[in-house]
Amino acid sequence: MLSTYAVIGDPIHHSMSPSIHNAAFRELGMDATYIAYRVPAGELEEGIESLKRTGMAGFNVTIPHKVEIMRFLDKTDEGCSAIGAANTVVVMAEDGGGGGAVLKGYNTDMDGFLDPIRRRGIGIAGEDVLLMGAGGAARAIAAGFAKEGAGRITVVGRDGAKTGELARFARSLGLDSDVAGFGDMPALAGYKFVVNATPVGMAAGGDGGGTKDADGGAEKDGLPVDASQIEEGMVVYDIVYRPINTGLLGKAKKAGATTIPGYEMLLGQAARAFEIWHGRDAPYGAMKRALVGMSA
Ligand code: NAP
Repeated sequence: MLSTYAVIGDPIHHSMSPSIHNAAFRELGMDATYIAYRVPAGELEEGIESLKRTGMAGFNVTIPHKVEIMRFLDKTDEGCSAIGAANTVVVMAEDGGGGGAVLKGYNTDMDGFLDPIRRRGIGIAGEDVLLMGAGGAARAIAAGFAKEGAGRITVVGRDGAKTGELARFARSLGLDSDVAGFGDMPALAGYKFVVNATPVGMAAGGDGGGTKDADGGAEKDGLPVDASQIEEGMVVYDIVYRPINTGLLGKAKKAGATTIPGYEMLLGQAARAFEIWHGRDAPYGAMKRALVGMSA
Protein backbone atom coordinates (compact mmCIF):
# COMPACT_ATOMS: atom_id res chain seq x y z
CA MET A 1 0.00 0.00 0.00
CA LEU A 2 1.28 3.46 -0.87
CA SER A 3 2.44 5.37 2.21
CA THR A 4 2.50 9.15 2.16
CA TYR A 5 4.82 11.60 3.91
CA ALA A 6 4.87 15.40 3.91
CA VAL A 7 6.67 18.53 4.98
CA ILE A 8 4.47 21.18 6.56
CA GLY A 9 5.32 24.86 6.96
CA ASP A 10 4.88 28.26 5.38
CA PRO A 11 6.42 29.25 2.99
CA ILE A 12 6.84 25.73 1.67
CA HIS A 13 6.97 26.01 -2.13
CA HIS A 14 10.78 26.22 -2.15
CA SER A 15 11.26 23.16 0.09
CA MET A 16 13.78 20.64 -1.23
CA SER A 17 12.51 17.86 1.04
CA PRO A 18 10.04 16.34 -1.48
CA SER A 19 12.81 15.95 -4.08
CA ILE A 20 15.22 14.44 -1.55
CA HIS A 21 12.77 11.89 -0.11
CA ASN A 22 11.14 10.98 -3.43
CA ALA A 23 14.61 10.33 -4.87
CA ALA A 24 15.24 7.96 -1.97
CA PHE A 25 11.95 6.13 -2.61
CA ARG A 26 12.79 5.77 -6.31
CA GLU A 27 16.30 4.54 -5.55
CA LEU A 28 14.98 1.80 -3.24
CA GLY A 29 11.83 1.02 -5.25
CA MET A 30 9.60 1.91 -2.29
CA ASP A 31 5.85 2.38 -2.66
CA ALA A 32 5.83 5.77 -0.97
CA THR A 33 5.47 9.44 -1.83
CA TYR A 34 6.37 12.74 -0.13
CA ILE A 35 4.57 16.05 -0.66
CA ALA A 36 4.88 19.68 0.47
CA TYR A 37 1.80 20.90 2.34
CA ARG A 38 1.38 24.58 3.19
CA VAL A 39 0.15 25.08 6.75
CA PRO A 40 0.12 28.81 7.65
CA ALA A 41 0.92 30.14 11.13
CA GLY A 42 -2.13 29.80 13.37
CA GLU A 43 -3.52 26.81 11.45
CA LEU A 44 -1.31 24.05 12.80
CA GLU A 45 -4.05 22.21 14.71
CA GLU A 46 -6.32 21.98 11.63
CA GLY A 47 -3.31 21.03 9.50
CA ILE A 48 -2.43 18.13 11.79
CA GLU A 49 -6.02 16.92 11.87
CA SER A 50 -6.16 16.75 8.09
CA LEU A 51 -2.82 14.93 7.96
CA LYS A 52 -4.20 12.34 10.38
CA ARG A 53 -7.42 11.95 8.38
CA THR A 54 -5.53 11.37 5.14
CA GLY A 55 -3.58 8.54 6.78
CA MET A 56 -0.20 10.27 6.56
CA ALA A 57 2.57 7.96 7.87
CA GLY A 58 4.90 10.76 8.97
CA PHE A 59 5.82 14.36 8.32
CA ASN A 60 8.57 16.93 8.63
CA VAL A 61 7.90 20.28 10.27
CA THR A 62 9.56 23.52 9.27
CA ILE A 63 9.21 27.29 9.86
CA PRO A 64 7.04 28.51 11.60
CA HIS A 65 5.83 25.35 13.42
CA LYS A 66 8.92 23.64 14.88
CA VAL A 67 8.25 24.82 18.45
CA GLU A 68 4.44 24.92 18.38
CA ILE A 69 4.23 21.32 17.13
CA MET A 70 5.47 20.20 20.56
CA ARG A 71 1.98 20.86 22.00
CA PHE A 72 0.45 18.30 19.66
CA LEU A 73 2.86 15.43 20.22
CA ASP A 74 1.89 12.43 22.34
CA LYS A 75 5.53 11.30 22.69
CA THR A 76 8.92 12.90 22.10
CA ASP A 77 12.43 11.52 21.85
CA GLU A 78 15.25 12.78 24.06
CA GLY A 79 16.78 15.27 21.61
CA CYS A 80 13.44 16.80 20.77
CA SER A 81 12.58 17.33 24.45
CA ALA A 82 16.00 18.88 25.19
CA ILE A 83 15.83 21.28 22.25
CA GLY A 84 12.15 22.12 22.76
CA ALA A 85 11.39 21.78 19.05
CA ALA A 86 10.60 18.96 16.62
CA ASN A 87 11.13 18.65 12.88
CA THR A 88 10.16 15.01 12.31
CA VAL A 89 6.93 13.27 13.35
CA VAL A 90 5.95 9.62 13.13
CA VAL A 91 2.20 8.94 12.95
CA MET A 92 1.45 5.65 14.69
CA ALA A 93 -1.77 3.71 15.12
CA GLU A 94 -3.22 4.02 18.60
CA ASP A 95 -2.71 0.98 20.87
CA GLY A 96 -5.81 -1.17 21.10
CA GLY A 97 -6.87 -0.69 17.47
CA GLY A 98 -9.27 2.18 18.21
CA GLY A 99 -8.43 3.70 14.84
CA GLY A 100 -6.89 6.86 16.34
CA ALA A 101 -3.39 8.15 15.66
CA VAL A 102 -0.51 8.84 18.06
CA LEU A 103 2.20 11.37 17.16
CA LYS A 104 5.83 10.91 18.17
CA GLY A 105 8.25 13.78 17.60
CA TYR A 106 11.99 13.82 16.91
CA ASN A 107 14.52 16.55 16.21
CA THR A 108 16.88 15.48 13.44
CA ASP A 109 18.44 18.95 13.01
CA MET A 110 20.99 18.22 15.74
CA ASP A 111 22.26 14.96 14.23
CA GLY A 112 21.87 16.46 10.77
CA PHE A 113 24.21 19.27 11.79
CA LEU A 114 26.76 16.91 13.36
CA ASP A 115 26.70 14.41 10.48
CA PRO A 116 29.05 16.29 8.08
CA ILE A 117 31.50 16.98 10.94
CA ARG A 118 31.54 13.27 11.79
CA ARG A 119 31.91 12.28 8.14
CA ARG A 120 35.05 14.43 7.99
CA GLY A 121 36.41 12.88 11.19
CA ILE A 122 36.71 16.28 12.88
CA GLY A 123 36.82 16.17 16.69
CA ILE A 124 34.61 18.50 18.72
CA ALA A 125 35.54 17.63 22.31
CA GLY A 126 37.12 20.61 24.10
CA GLU A 127 36.99 22.87 21.02
CA ASP A 128 35.65 26.43 21.10
CA VAL A 129 32.74 27.52 18.92
CA LEU A 130 31.60 30.89 17.58
CA LEU A 131 27.91 30.52 16.74
CA MET A 132 26.17 33.31 14.83
CA GLY A 133 22.40 33.34 15.27
CA ALA A 134 20.11 32.54 18.17
CA GLY A 135 17.06 31.05 16.45
CA GLY A 136 15.69 27.52 16.22
CA ALA A 137 18.56 26.07 14.22
CA ALA A 138 21.16 27.67 16.52
CA ARG A 139 19.47 25.96 19.48
CA ALA A 140 19.76 22.52 17.87
CA ILE A 141 23.39 23.30 16.96
CA ALA A 142 24.26 24.34 20.52
CA ALA A 143 22.69 21.10 21.78
CA GLY A 144 24.81 19.17 19.26
CA PHE A 145 28.05 20.81 20.40
CA ALA A 146 27.07 20.13 24.03
CA LYS A 147 26.38 16.47 23.21
CA GLU A 148 29.88 16.18 21.72
CA GLY A 149 31.58 17.90 24.67
CA ALA A 150 32.72 21.16 23.03
CA GLY A 151 34.55 23.72 25.20
CA ARG A 152 33.23 27.30 25.07
CA ILE A 153 30.44 28.51 22.83
CA THR A 154 30.11 32.22 22.04
CA VAL A 155 26.64 33.10 20.79
CA VAL A 156 26.59 36.12 18.46
CA GLY A 157 23.30 37.82 17.65
CA ARG A 158 21.52 41.13 17.31
CA ASP A 159 18.96 40.56 20.05
CA GLY A 160 20.54 40.43 23.51
CA ALA A 161 17.53 38.71 25.07
CA LYS A 162 17.70 35.86 22.53
CA THR A 163 21.49 35.39 22.67
CA GLY A 164 21.32 35.47 26.50
CA GLU A 165 18.60 32.82 26.50
CA LEU A 166 20.56 30.58 24.12
CA ALA A 167 23.73 30.99 26.21
CA ARG A 168 21.78 29.96 29.34
CA PHE A 169 20.43 26.96 27.45
CA ALA A 170 23.99 26.01 26.41
CA ARG A 171 25.19 26.31 30.02
CA SER A 172 22.30 24.14 31.18
CA LEU A 173 23.69 21.46 28.86
CA GLY A 174 27.18 21.80 30.37
CA LEU A 175 28.87 24.16 27.89
CA ASP A 176 30.86 27.19 28.94
CA SER A 177 29.03 30.04 27.16
CA ASP A 178 29.16 33.79 26.55
CA VAL A 179 27.44 36.25 24.20
CA ALA A 180 28.35 39.09 21.81
CA GLY A 181 26.71 41.37 19.26
CA PHE A 182 27.76 41.63 15.61
CA GLY A 183 29.40 44.96 16.43
CA ASP A 184 31.53 43.68 19.31
CA MET A 185 32.30 40.16 18.16
CA PRO A 186 35.49 38.70 19.67
CA ALA A 187 38.51 37.97 17.44
CA LEU A 188 38.11 34.65 15.62
CA ALA A 189 41.60 33.41 16.55
CA GLY A 190 41.20 30.62 19.07
CA TYR A 191 37.85 29.38 17.78
CA LYS A 192 38.00 26.02 16.03
CA PHE A 193 34.41 26.24 14.72
CA VAL A 194 32.81 29.31 13.15
CA VAL A 195 29.15 28.60 12.40
CA ASN A 196 26.64 30.78 10.60
CA ALA A 197 23.09 29.97 11.75
CA THR A 198 21.54 33.20 10.44
CA PRO A 199 20.01 33.69 6.97
CA VAL A 200 22.86 36.09 6.11
CA GLY A 201 24.36 35.07 2.76
CA MET A 202 21.18 33.40 1.55
CA ALA A 203 20.12 33.95 -2.05
CA ALA A 204 17.32 36.52 -2.33
CA GLY A 205 13.98 34.71 -2.17
CA GLY A 206 15.58 31.55 -0.79
CA ASP A 207 13.61 31.68 2.44
CA GLY A 208 11.34 34.63 1.89
CA GLY A 209 14.29 36.91 2.71
CA GLY A 210 16.83 38.93 0.82
CA THR A 211 16.37 42.28 2.51
CA LYS A 212 19.11 44.31 4.10
CA ASP A 213 19.23 44.64 7.84
CA ALA A 214 18.93 47.93 9.67
CA ASP A 215 18.71 46.39 13.11
CA GLY A 216 22.22 45.85 14.38
CA GLY A 217 22.68 42.66 12.35
CA ALA A 218 24.64 41.87 9.23
CA GLU A 219 23.36 42.64 5.75
CA LYS A 220 21.48 39.63 4.49
CA ASP A 221 23.39 39.50 1.24
CA GLY A 222 26.72 40.23 2.96
CA LEU A 223 28.97 38.26 5.31
CA PRO A 224 28.03 37.61 8.95
CA VAL A 225 31.65 37.88 10.09
CA ASP A 226 34.95 39.60 9.23
CA ALA A 227 36.24 36.89 6.90
CA SER A 228 39.78 38.30 6.86
CA GLN A 229 40.20 36.74 10.33
CA ILE A 230 39.53 33.21 9.12
CA GLU A 231 42.62 31.00 9.30
CA GLU A 232 43.80 27.59 8.26
CA GLY A 233 42.78 24.97 10.81
CA MET A 234 39.38 26.54 11.45
CA VAL A 235 36.15 24.80 10.44
CA VAL A 236 33.71 27.25 8.85
CA TYR A 237 30.20 25.84 8.66
CA ASP A 238 27.48 27.87 6.93
CA ILE A 239 24.04 26.30 7.40
CA VAL A 240 22.57 28.46 4.63
CA TYR A 241 22.00 25.97 1.78
CA ARG A 242 20.99 28.23 -1.08
CA PRO A 243 23.34 29.11 -2.72
CA ILE A 244 25.49 26.05 -2.03
CA ASN A 245 28.66 28.13 -2.09
CA THR A 246 27.91 31.17 0.05
CA GLY A 247 30.20 34.19 0.18
CA LEU A 248 31.38 33.12 3.64
CA LEU A 249 32.36 29.65 2.42
CA GLY A 250 34.20 31.12 -0.57
CA LYS A 251 36.33 33.37 1.65
CA ALA A 252 36.94 30.58 4.15
CA LYS A 253 38.10 28.21 1.40
CA LYS A 254 40.55 30.86 0.15
CA ALA A 255 41.90 31.25 3.68
CA GLY A 256 42.60 27.49 3.81
CA ALA A 257 39.89 26.64 6.38
CA THR A 258 37.81 23.47 6.23
CA THR A 259 34.39 24.43 4.89
CA ILE A 260 31.05 22.71 5.39
CA PRO A 261 28.08 23.79 3.22
CA GLY A 262 24.56 23.89 4.66
CA TYR A 263 23.17 21.41 2.15
CA GLU A 264 25.07 18.68 4.00
CA MET A 265 23.11 19.48 7.17
CA LEU A 266 19.89 19.40 5.17
CA LEU A 267 20.86 15.98 3.82
CA GLY A 268 21.94 14.77 7.24
CA GLN A 269 18.61 15.66 8.84
CA ALA A 270 16.67 14.15 5.91
CA ALA A 271 18.68 10.92 6.08
CA ARG A 272 18.03 10.65 9.82
CA ALA A 273 14.28 11.27 9.31
CA PHE A 274 14.29 8.58 6.59
CA GLU A 275 15.88 6.10 9.02
CA ILE A 276 13.32 6.92 11.74
CA TRP A 277 10.36 6.47 9.38
CA HIS A 278 11.53 3.46 7.42
CA GLY A 279 13.88 1.64 9.83
CA ARG A 280 16.59 1.22 7.19
CA ASP A 281 19.68 3.08 5.97
CA ALA A 282 18.97 6.12 3.83
CA PRO A 283 20.34 6.06 0.25
CA TYR A 284 22.56 9.09 0.91
CA GLY A 285 24.08 9.24 -2.59
CA ALA A 286 20.70 9.35 -4.35
CA MET A 287 19.40 11.95 -1.90
CA LYS A 288 22.51 14.07 -2.43
CA ARG A 289 22.22 13.90 -6.22
CA ALA A 290 18.62 15.11 -6.00
CA LEU A 291 19.57 18.02 -3.78
CA VAL A 292 22.77 19.17 -5.44
CA GLY A 293 21.28 18.77 -8.90
CA MET A 294 18.41 21.09 -7.90
CA SER A 295 20.50 23.81 -6.30
CA ALA A 296 23.43 23.98 -8.65
P1 NAP B 1 15.13 31.58 12.96
O1 NAP B 1 14.62 30.76 14.09
O2 NAP B 1 14.25 32.59 12.31
O3 NAP B 1 16.48 32.32 13.46
C1 NAP B 1 17.24 33.16 12.62
C2 NAP B 1 18.36 33.80 13.42
O4 NAP B 1 19.12 34.62 12.52
C3 NAP B 1 17.88 34.71 14.53
O5 NAP B 1 18.83 34.71 15.57
C4 NAP B 1 17.84 36.07 13.82
O6 NAP B 1 17.97 37.18 14.69
C5 NAP B 1 19.10 35.98 12.98
N1 NAP B 1 19.08 36.90 11.84
C6 NAP B 1 18.11 37.02 10.89
N2 NAP B 1 18.46 37.98 9.99
C7 NAP B 1 19.67 38.48 10.40
C8 NAP B 1 20.54 39.48 9.90
N3 NAP B 1 20.26 40.16 8.79
N4 NAP B 1 21.67 39.72 10.58
C9 NAP B 1 21.97 39.02 11.71
N5 NAP B 1 21.19 38.07 12.24
C10 NAP B 1 20.05 37.79 11.58
O7 NAP B 1 15.62 30.65 11.75
P2 NAP B 1 16.34 29.22 11.85
O8 NAP B 1 15.35 28.15 11.70
O9 NAP B 1 17.24 29.23 13.03
O10 NAP B 1 17.19 29.23 10.48
C11 NAP B 1 18.27 30.11 10.29
C12 NAP B 1 18.86 29.88 8.90
O11 NAP B 1 19.37 28.57 8.80
C13 NAP B 1 17.86 30.03 7.75
O12 NAP B 1 18.51 30.62 6.65
C14 NAP B 1 17.49 28.59 7.41
O13 NAP B 1 17.13 28.43 6.05
C15 NAP B 1 18.80 27.89 7.70
N6 NAP B 1 18.61 26.49 8.11
C16 NAP B 1 19.32 25.55 7.45
C17 NAP B 1 19.16 24.24 7.80
C18 NAP B 1 19.93 23.18 7.04
O14 NAP B 1 19.55 22.01 7.15
N7 NAP B 1 20.97 23.53 6.33
C19 NAP B 1 18.32 23.86 8.85
C20 NAP B 1 17.63 24.85 9.54
C21 NAP B 1 17.78 26.19 9.14
P3 NAP B 1 16.66 37.86 15.34
O15 NAP B 1 16.16 36.86 16.34
O16 NAP B 1 17.19 39.09 15.92
O17 NAP B 1 15.69 38.06 14.20
